[in-house]
Amino acid sequence: MPNHLVVVGSGVTGVEFVHMFTSFGCDVTLLVSRQQVLPAKDPEVAAALEADFLRRSVRLYKGARAQSIERDGDQVLVHCDDGRIATGSHVILAVGSVPNSESLGLDTVGIETDGGYIPIDHYCRTSVPHIYAAGDVSGKLPLSSVGQMQGRKIAEHAMGVVDDRSHRLMDYNKAASAVFTEPEIADVGLAEADAFAEGRKIRVTKVPFTASPKAAINDDPRGFIKIVSDPATGVVLGGSIVGRHAAELISIVALAVTASLTVHDIQESLFVHPTLAEALADAAE
Ligand SMILES: Cc1cc2nc3c(=O)[nH]c(=O)nc-3n(C[C@H](O)[C@H](O)[C@H](O)COP(=O)(O)OP(=O)(O)OC[C@H]3O[C@@H](n4cnc5c(N)ncnc54)[C@H](O)[C@@H]3O)c2cc1C
Repeated sequence: MPNHLVVVGSGVTGVEFVHMFTSFGCDVTLLVSRQQVLPAKDPEVAAALEADFLRRSVRLYKGARAQSIERDGDQVLVHCDDGRIATGSHVILAVGSVPNSESLGLDTVGIETDGGYIPIDHYCRTSVPHIYAAGDVSGKLPLSSVGQMQGRKIAEHAMGVVDDRSHRLMDYNKAASAVFTEPEIADVGLAEADAFAEGRKIRVTKVPFTASPKAAINDDPRGFIKIVSDPATGVVLGGSIVGRHAAELISIVALAVTASLTVHDIQESLFVHPTLAEALADAAE
């Protein structure tokens, strides 16, 4: 068990390691190259996680990009570009992944690559149409669920069922994802910040779990549900959830996004009482 772990990188993998090792009782320092953890996530979601990290006495070095790592006896020193030095007994680098396709001999069969990734079309076909690629190496969303769905789509295409009405093309914008920290974090579809950046009109409704009877029964009222919808049609465009079972609850929002359900459809659904899912109906109001 590390005495003091320095985690470099505050994306999903980095923050999950922070959560895991603080739960084991380790001291942790987290280097955050920008000004918020989970830089791609909704700022309110990231703030909820940062609050938990501070409660766990995690040392947050914001705006600190690791430049070099040096061993000094039992210590490891991580030098940051702003001059700060994070010291610990161990370091985890959680700064992303790279494809491992070089040795596959892809060029010998004429498959084009881009930085090691294998570009694919809507049917997951590579530049050689009878050869498909699925998973992280396709350069799409690096999620198990996405890789599995690509595999299913490939099987359908290879068996010639693409004209079947049940066959749909992959829509990577509708993939739900989760961060397994405490509180748990999950989101799907259009994020509020992205909509604002695009100048797109949206309606955002938010309900804290403090308003949920089931959260009170669980004695865990942390977090909230946020639903992003189209103000004209009510169609659900996305959502973020912070709190207990967020990764389970987001599936309801993911279904709404995929099936173009409206906030009224969620509101009118008679969910079981008392459940955390009831807060979804409240958030949809
Ligand atoms: C710490 C961590 C946590 C994650 N948590 C989640 C999560 O909670 N939910 C989620 O959806 N996703 C999660 N992911 C992402 C998920 O693991 C990947 O998206 C998923 O594993 C990709 O599947 P894949 O088949 O493309 O690649 P991999 O799962 O990496 O499988 C590739 C396989 O190919 C083998 N291989 C490589 N090169 C060769 C070769 N030349 N010949 C033969 N075999 C080869 C490898 O050994 C490996 O077994 C996580 C990733 C990480 C790193």
